[in-house]
This record gives sequence, structure tokens and C-alpha cells, in this order.
Amino acid sequence: MPATHPALPLLALVAAGALALSSCGDSASESVALPQHPSVIILSGDGMGSQQRTAIQYHTYGLDERQPMDALPVAGMLDTIPGDPEYAVSDSAAGATAWAVGKKVPNGTTGLGPDGESVPTLLDLAKQRGMSTGLVNDHDVTNATLAAFGAPVPDRDLKVEIAEGYLDRGVDVLFGGGEKYWYPKGDAGRIPDEGDDDASEGSANLVQRAEELGYGYAYDRDTFDALTGPKALALVQDSAKRRSNEIEGYDYHSDPHYVAPEKLVAKALDILGRNENGFFLVIESDDLDSDGHEHDAQNMMLAGESMNAMVQVITEYQKEHPDVLLIVTADHETGGMAIENVLDDDEPEPNSDQVADDPVPYWAETPENMPLPDGGVPKRSGPFTIKGTDRQFKVDWTTAEHTGTMVPVTAAGPLAERFTGVHHNTHVYDVITELFGN
Ligand SMILES: [Zn+2]
Repeated sequence: MPATHPALPLLALVAAGALALSSCGDSASESVALPQHPSVIILSGDGMGSQQRTAIQYHTYGLDERQPMDALPVAGMLDTIPGDPEYAVSDSAAGATAWAVGKKVPNGTTGLGPDGESVPTLLDLAKQRGMSTGLVNDHDVTNATLAAFGAPVPDRDLKVEIAEGYLDRGVDVLFGGGEKYWYPKGDAGRIPDEGDDDASEGSANLVQRAEELGYGYAYDRDTFDALTGPKALALVQDSAKRRSNEIEGYDYHSDPHYVAPEKLVAKALDILGRNENGFFLVIESDDLDSDGHEHDAQNMMLAGESMNAMVQVITEYQKEHPDVLLIVTADHETGGMAIENVLDDDEPEPNSDQVADDPVPYWAETPENMPLPDGGVPKRSGPFTIKGTDRQFKVDWTTAEHTGTMVPVTAAGPLAERFTGVHHNTHVYDVITELFGN
């Protein structure tokens, strides 16, 4: 447990003049001494509301040890409503665009302004400052959340255009899955395809183009370990932990194309951290959202474990690099998740939506969350043990879609304290631009 506020060590690093001012300021003062060359990391657990965070805490960490993402020194809440003429509930594109450009926009809008106009994203502002930039995902690196920063497009499904956009913009580090968008049709790429869903959909060989532009390219553990930057593209196995629960015989531990998300993050920090002007890095766990859509609490908590492993890598890095601001939050909640008591045998579930609403996951013919024929609790909903206790809980869901609830935000580093309280999701943009001095 930190005894001092983590922003305090910064004071030692800023210019002497600023130090003199801040040392006599009181705690009510709004003026904060900013580092000259800050770095920023946004870590988004897509679909990760407070119930998801709580379930991950209980099952994986128990009741005593606070999970790394909740152990950060500052916590607050962000609203998630989009700037949409019709909808109250956000999609990932509008949620991430609120962070990326500081404006609430209609659903589907990916990195553009409310009227579809082109505006500078935080990644653009970072590049203007001479900072290095990176995008990391446990699923497609071309997903909407990251595209909102690195490749604004009129339609989030334009994944090939998003990949091209990253290269056009010169994003320095691109790590994640989804190699099928980087290779042309008929070219299987470097990772063996697992059914039609994996087949290439691109129109050009963008990996080759990336290499011509000076990117190092990795597709498995060995080539990943060999990456040195300053420009690096890694297209590795996406959603590997999920696959282990979904594809019979698949084990991510033995898949040479699997690189753990925390390893992706550690390498990104290693490469980006060499720029003396700092770096801007956006990381997403997309699997959390997919698991919410599919009512799969088991996989959701596995993805949560990866979230915490990434936070641990980053907080360790912050000890040597106190100018790094880390923000951990979500674009919206997914599934309307609830933590419930496990009922006694034979007791009916009067309010459960599981019978009617459970979606059929793409890998199965029947919903795996349907109550078992004998009335038992389906495995993907629990019961889950609260670590270190004899107590159990189960998970229930109200929708297969997103919900409009506020989401937690936790933070550490310079200006982290700005996230105390309840804010619009555009506050992420406001704090980072303040840190940038814009
Ligand atoms: Zn979603």
C-alpha cells in the first residue's frame, strides 16, 4: 500500500522554478506541476463495468488482496452515454471516440467528430509532440476502440482500411490479433487458419508493406522476442484464452503463436519508452466485451486476469518512470451482469433471464449457459468460488448487448487525481490534453 501519493515523485523531476511554486501550494490548489515529457497509457477493459471488476476481484483475488487494477491510488466513475440522436447506450466506437477526440458522437463513429468531420485524435496530438505511439489488443488490433485513435474511419467494420490507416499514420507499435485483415484473400498468413472464420479478407499484403516501411514483424513467440523497434508489428494469436475453452484440443500454452497480453505490453513499453519525448499507448482487452455478449463469466474472468497482469507490468514500469499516467477504464458495460447468490438445489430462479435470453455462442449449436436438464447451474455462469473462502456466487445477465451504466475508472501517475469523482467519458481527453499542455 503506497504511503505517499504517487504523483509526488514527479515534483523532483520538474524544472526548479515550477518546484518552488508547487512546494508552497496547498492541497486545494488547482495548479499541478506537470512533467515536461509525460507519457500516457489508456487500458480499456471493453465492457468492464463494476460488476465485472467485482467478480474478477472475488474469484481471482479473494477478499483481502485488492486486484492490481483496483489498487491504483485514484478511482472515479465515467458516464458512457453517446452523443447519439437515438440511443442511450454506447458502442465501443463512440465510447473510444469520446476519449480520443473529447466529443460525444453517434454510435458507429470511429475517431471522427459528431458530424463525421475529421479532427485530431489524442494519438495525433501525441505525434505532434514528438511522442512515440502504440496500439495493443488481445483480439484484432484493428478493432474500433484502437481505430478511434489511430485510424479514423466512417465505419468501424472497415478493418482493412483501418490497418492501412495505422501504417499511413506511422503508429510505431501495433500488437494484437486479426492477421486476416493484413493478408490478401487466398494468403493464409503465418498463423494456421482455424475454419472459414480465420481466412484472410484483405486486398493487399499489408505485412509486406509494413516491412517496406521499416516495421519489424512478428507472428510467434520467437519472432516476437526478437522484435526491437522502433517500429514493430506483431500479429499473433488472438483471443487465445477464449479459444482454449471453445475449441476442443486447443491449448494456448502450447500455441507458438500465442503471446500473453502482458508480454505484448512489456515489449511495447520497452520500445516506446526509448523516446525521450514520451509515448502514448492505448491497450484494449476486447475479449471482456465478447464474453459479456456471450454471457460467459468464466472467460470474462480469464480476460480480467490478463487485465491485472498488464496493470502489474505497467505499475512496475511506473516505479522507474513516474512521468507515466495510467488510466484503466471501460467504454461501456456489456451484458447487464449481476453477481448473485447460489440458490439451494431445486430452488427455482424466479428472476433469472438465463432461460430466455442466453445467446448461442458462435462455436456451439446450443447456448452453453442454458440451465442444465437437471436444473443445475450452467458452468459458464458459475458457481464460482470466492478465493480463500467457502463462499460461492453465480453470474446472471440481463441483455446480450451493452448497457448504459457508468463505469469505474482508476488511475495512477501525473494528473491521476483528476479522475476522482463522476465525469463524462470525454474527461479522459480533457485530462490528457491538460497533461500535454494543450
Ligand atoms: Zn460489444
